[in-house]
Amino acid sequence: MNSTDELYDKIKILARSLGIVDIGIADAKLWNTDPLVSSRIKTTGRPESILPTAKSVIVIGIPIQRAIIETAPSISYANAYKNINTMLDQITERISLELNILGYDSIYIPRDGYHGIEGLKDSPSAFFSHRHAAYLAGLGTFGMNNVILTEKYGPRIRFSSVITTAELPYDSPMTKELCIKCKKCTKVCPVSAVSDQMYPSKITKKELCIDFAAELAKKGISPCGACIRVCPVGLDRDSPIPTDEAKELIQSYVK
Ligand code: SF4
Ligand code: SF4
Repeated sequence: MNSTDELYDKIKILARSLGIVDIGIADAKLWNTDPLVSSRIKTTGRPESILPTAKSVIVIGIPIQRAIIETAPSISYANAYKNINTMLDQITERISLELNILGYDSIYIPRDGYHGIEGLKDSPSAFFSHRHAAYLAGLGTFGMNNVILTEKYGPRIRFSSVITTAELPYDSPMTKELCIKCKKCTKVCPVSAVSDQMYPSKITKKELCIDFAAELAKKGISPCGACIRVCPVGLDRDSPIPTDEAKELIQSYVK
């Protein structure tokens, strides 16, 4: 086993001890060479602009339980969304600190690199895209809803990233397209924000989604999540979901 494999094993063991099983490594150079990513991500949002000698980007994912997303938008989903973001920040920070201890510079990127919904209204994109990092790390492919779909959870998984100078064994972007173009996400969107064409030829109208999220936030049930709730992709489609009565009860809890 070479030293890059050994280092990756250490990172995976740490991540597993913190509850992470979905992990991938992207080659930092791909931000400049991958046709999809280099055409969408500005130079300022690439790993080497954040950490000049970056070699790898470690991407981890935490799934949203299907029983929770089935109630979205709801107080249950709003709570899970917030908790998963916090967990991702804590775990990427731990991984980053471990890399520092092992002698490698590293920076963990905040899960949501913007200041709340009001911040998103001013600037609808975060300074670093975890979605594009997850794609380059081979964890999934883009769906029509502009979210990364994975084989296990469809779009019901949130990602976060650590940029590091450590060389690690890189994963490759998936070649198999997971989106089946059923357009369920397009049809369910209450504000017609999701295009009926594939990313990146058309992109979701983020400003409409953000305005809707701001409305839901007044009731304590933001974000919406409908376009990831209905997506038929993912082995988690077989997992148990709440009864209609339980869903109604959960959805009745608003501010
Ligand atoms: S989260 Fe809701 S509002 Fe936003 S794009 Fe998806 S379905 Fe539309
Ligand atoms: S709901 Fe259908 S069209 Fe939308 S991302 Fe999922 S598979 Fe693709």
